[in-house]
Amino acid sequence: MSEHNLEEKMNPKTLALVAHDHKKQAMVSWAKKNQEKLRSHTLYATGTTGKILEKALNMRVKKFKSGPIGGDQQIGALIADQKIDILFFFWDPLEPQPHDPDVKALLRLAVVWNIPVASNIASADYLISSPFFSGSYDREVPDFTDHMNRQT
Ligand code: PGA
Repeated sequence: MSEHNLEEKMNPKTLALVAHDHKKQAMVSWAKKNQEKLRSHTLYATGTTGKILEKALNMRVKKFKSGPIGGDQQIGALIADQKIDILFFFWDPLEPQPHDPDVKALLRLAVVWNIPVASNIASADYLISSPFFSGSYDREVPDFTDHMNRQT
C-alpha cells in the first residue's frame, strides 16, 4: 500500500451525497472519475442518488429515503449529530423542487455545523483534491451552549 493510500485509510470520512434529478448524471460522472478516492470513505446518500451511485461505483452506499420524502431531512439530522464530515449536494438552480424547504434546511444545517459543502462539479473537485480530504482535518464544531442556556 502506498503512503498516500495508507494515509487515506487512516482518515476515513463519512460523505453525504445528494443530487437533484437533472444533476444526477453530473454526480455519477464525477463520482466515477474519483472512484479511487471515494473508496476509502463511507458513503451516505438520499435514496435515488444512492441507488445510482452504488451501481455506478460498485461499492456500498448507505441509502436514506428519497430526498423529497424525507431523505434530505434524515441527512440534515445526521449533520446536527456530527455524523457527516462532508456534504456533496448537487442541487438544481433551474428547476423548482417540491421539497424546497428541505433543500434549504439541509444547506442551512451544513452551515450551522461548519460542514464543507460542494454544490457542483468544480467545488466537488476542489474539495476532493484538498489535503484535508485524504488527510486529517480538525473541524471546529460550533459551541451552542449560550444558545441552549439563553433566557426565554
Ligand atoms: P433522491 O433525492 O436522491 O432520492 O433523488 C435527492 C433530492 O432531491 O433531494
